[in-house]
Amino acid sequence: MTSIATQLDTVVARIRSSCHQSNRKPDGVKLLAVSKRFKADAVQQAFAHGQRAFGENYVQEGVEKIQQLAHLPLEWHFIGPIQSNKTKDIAANFAWVHTVEREKIARRLNDQRPADMPPLNVLLQVNVSNDPAKSGILVEQIDALAQCVAEQPNLRLRGLMTIPAVDLSPEQLAQDFNTMRMAFERLQQGFDSCDTLSMGMSGDLELAIANGSTMVRIGTAIFGQRTN
Ligand SMILES: *Cc1c(COP(=O)(O)O)cnc(C)c1O
Repeated sequence: MTSIATQLDTVVARIRSSCHQSNRKPDGVKLLAVSKRFKADAVQQAFAHGQRAFGENYVQEGVEKIQQLAHLPLEWHFIGPIQSNKTKDIAANFAWVHTVEREKIARRLNDQRPADMPPLNVLLQVNVSNDPAKSGILVEQIDALAQCVAEQPNLRLRGLMTIPAVDLSPEQLAQDFNTMRMAFERLQQGFDSCDTLSMGMSGDLELAIANGSTMVRIGTAIFGQRTN
């Protein structure tokens, strides 16, 4: 087995055991393999070992890989910051976007989604730690942006995503994850289409799953350290 295959097995086992410990169904948490800074060849190795969903942070790099691997049945998620001048490429190439934080961006993605593609799945990025260095809306702003996204015919509101601050204690991190769980459950009351809470990375997936995450975004633990 390649090291990517081995590491993928390890991550899948970590997800399973976290689900078990939290009394959750093992298929209730989806694995998004974050392939940023790794080449199409690495994605192909993960695919050969059963992985289907991949996350990219940079539009141009992502679109190149999507085109190189167009013959494979992959599901591509955009998880990086969105500049207005990149919305067209995102709308035309990705199945999901995790980082919507402005109405203007939501409207552009809607307007630019090609008519022959299914609606673009959208998560709202929430700055749960209220960290000035992080993007995302505040919890209090979720309702208004959710309403806007839900009104766009070419977008489908699926839930929330967060990247907590990096310097939190385990207690603070657990508290932020729990805040997200409550915000997500509240959002689900208003919007039937919401089924996804994208939360947890290589270092904290167990804690995220214990706090209700339904999708973990894992890069390093699958592909190794990013060197650039
Ligand atoms: C890079 C990245 C990840 C993956 O982080 P790892 O620590 O490598 O698992 C997850 N989410 C986002 C938004 C990222 O940019």
